[in-house]
Amino acid sequence: MSSKLKILYAAAEVVPFAKTGGLADVAGALPQVLAEMGHDVRIVMPCYGQLDRNKYGLRPITGSFGIPHGSDWIQIAIEQSDAIPGVPTYFVRNDYLYDRNSLYGQPDDDHRFVAYSRAIIEMLDRIGWMPDVISCNDWHTGLVPVYLKTLYAHRPALSGIGTLFTIHNLAYQGVFPADVMELTGLPPELFTWDKLEFYGQFDFMKAGLVYADTLSTVSPTYAKEIQTPEFGEGLQGVLSYRKDVLYGILNGIDDQIWNPRTDPLIPANFSAQDPDGKQICKRELQREMGLPVDPAVPVFGIISRLSSQKGFDLLDQVLPGLLADESMQVMILGTGDQYYHDMLTRLSALHPDKLAVTLKFDNALAHRIYAGSDAFLMPSNYEPCGLGQMISLAYGTVPVVHTTGGLADSVHEFRLAAGAGNGFIFKTYTAMACATAIHQALHCYADRPNWQQAMHNAFASNFSWEGSAREYVKVYEKALRLARNSKQ
Ligand code: ADP
Repeated sequence: MSSKLKILYAAAEVVPFAKTGGLADVAGALPQVLAEMGHDVRIVMPCYGQLDRNKYGLRPITGSFGIPHGSDWIQIAIEQSDAIPGVPTYFVRNDYLYDRNSLYGQPDDDHRFVAYSRAIIEMLDRIGWMPDVISCNDWHTGLVPVYLKTLYAHRPALSGIGTLFTIHNLAYQGVFPADVMELTGLPPELFTWDKLEFYGQFDFMKAGLVYADTLSTVSPTYAKEIQTPEFGEGLQGVLSYRKDVLYGILNGIDDQIWNPRTDPLIPANFSAQDPDGKQICKRELQREMGLPVDPAVPVFGIISRLSSQKGFDLLDQVLPGLLADESMQVMILGTGDQYYHDMLTRLSALHPDKLAVTLKFDNALAHRIYAGSDAFLMPSNYEPCGLGQMISLAYGTVPVVHTTGGLADSVHEFRLAAGAGNGFIFKTYTAMACATAIHQALHCYADRPNWQQAMHNAFASNFSWEGSAREYVKVYEKALRLARNSKQ
């Protein structure tokens, strides 16, 4: 099968419209690359209240229509934006459900995402466009494959649609009390351990994993890890059972946005061939963050959610000693758990000339830290894919990582003798192993030619989307084949 596909990409957050994490980066980049390959790709997401409607030119394309919701009906309208070149984006609008002060974490998230999933299917007739495949992402879209295979299976136009369900982070499953079943309108007999039930509760993620034609996650290593009890979050059984249709496809990064040669958000542009601008970025970053301006001292950047998933429990143990003993600077940008906000604030007061902490979400500052740091710290406990290490590599900023999930697939141990490797790694998740990897980076930095080689290898790493997009197309084709075969 090599004909062009019609792909509907369903995600709860999409750059540039709304972002809390890596899912939005992927959803904003992959569809564009697929469209450039000639496929007809469209995106669908909820119409959040905080969206800048004027900036993105949102306009209604359907009138208001009712969809079933529990024992009632709710009114939905579909709007469209053309802000992403070549990829029309549809917005499911219901202000009561989606006009809130945050994307998720609302007490009625079950209502909000049952309605979103149902609206995705109900809108297709009304927008006059029928996809070959729906590419579903994370728990918010978990019910789409279920609806297609059950309540809508008798509709010929819908029953042949293939589905891919992609896991971006298995830890967030959308688990709610059992009475969500009534909201969904699905037959009660589907509430069993091998379908929608998860230890007495309703699990949106599991629904997607059981019913989608094909499954994927965002790195080959995480695809294997999630079949084990250590990483499977209780769903390792389903995932092992479906391993024949489970694929690990590494995310890419958008080189229009993350490119030191052209990045308009950094003080000076640079590249592997012409790296001088990186020194200017470092100097300006030290100045901006209020640390001593010294080209010789190694700067370590961190841009992250502040959580133990991202390795802050290790940093809590490792940073005090490092900052006390080593000549180094650490720049941290992030928000998250209050415990880590307090820990970092305390530590930066103790080491005002070595640690600078910015506790907010700031995209432009993130660009300047990626560009101006020498090394990037990402000691995640687990990491489905991770974008920070890939972005830092693109900026010649050498990562120090725990080898897990996508970090294991993208960062390889630097070995000078072989001239190979693009970063520093540790394998066991302990403070000692983490500190050892950071010391290796410091040691390497102290020897200029060594460090130049590590930087060179970092720049040479390639995480463009094209290769991964071709893998997605193969999985979409498989999903479509499976859906059409099961229809016959
Ligand atoms: P996550 O698990 O949070 O999705 P990823 O590494 O996949 O982690 O993606 C995180 C994305 O969010 C990256 O683009 C990173 O640069 C960005 N990011 C994280 N925290 C911040 C912050 N405080 N300010 C700006 N960007 C941030």
